[in-house]
Amino acid sequence: CGIVGYIGHRQAQDVLINGLSKLEYRGYDSAGIAIYDSGSIHLQKSVGRLATLEERVKGDLVLVGSQGIGHTRWATHGRPSDDNAHPHTDEAGRFVVVHNGIIENYLELREELIAKGHVFQSETDTEVVVHLIEELYQGDLFKTVVQVLKRIHGAFALAIMAQDEPGKLIAVRKQSPLIIGLGEGENFIASDIPAILEYTRKTYIMDDGELAVITADGVECFTFEGNPTVKEVFNVTWDA
Ligand code: GLU
Repeated sequence: CGIVGYIGHRQAQDVLINGLSKLEYRGYDSAGIAIYDSGSIHLQKSVGRLATLEERVKGDLVLVGSQGIGHTRWATHGRPSDDNAHPHTDEAGRFVVVHNGIIENYLELREELIAKGHVFQSETDTEVVVHLIEELYQGDLFKTVVQVLKRIHGAFALAIMAQDEPGKLIAVRKQSPLIIGLGEGENFIASDIPAILEYTRKTYIMDDGELAVITADGVECFTFEGNPTVKEVFNVTWDA
């Protein structure tokens, strides 16, 4: 179970798959990536080894774009399958989410969202998060995520992007590790430092109960209530 996110000037697909391969030690049963390109979000995911996903996206299914999120899954809710692999999206594919951890109140949220007309595509606890975002979205992803955080319980590291807000990633940490890598005109999200060490040694270690808005040029961190937090750069001095 691992998360990688990238926004900058490189091909996101390469950074994501490379980063996920550095997190393989954490164990996983499926893998997937989502890349934003020219107005829409493109997904590729598969049960099984990262090499399977890599073969697909290195073949005729290359995803082009310099912004994306990736995931290796260790199934907790719903068997390992292509449909249950992350990233998860809403019906229209406007929002995309990867998640490590468990959304404890997902059953009641799922019932509520189904009653409101949402159509679920997987058996995961995670999928409620993306439908909840869609349900609450009024043009501001950050504000929406602050609202969503009031509704979900459990342990979660999340990376999120929205089709209508290109140039932005959102990261959330609660009882599941997540760090941010700080580059020059590029920034990274990862479950652990080895995933980004090839690109930068400057990091923000996210605290529990923190969310971050990440663009290619900057990172801002906030409490779950949406108040800014002050971060110190942690310089990694060791090699992977
Ligand atoms: N609970 C989620 C799922 O089963 C995420 C598992 C993970 O941490 O990879 O899909």
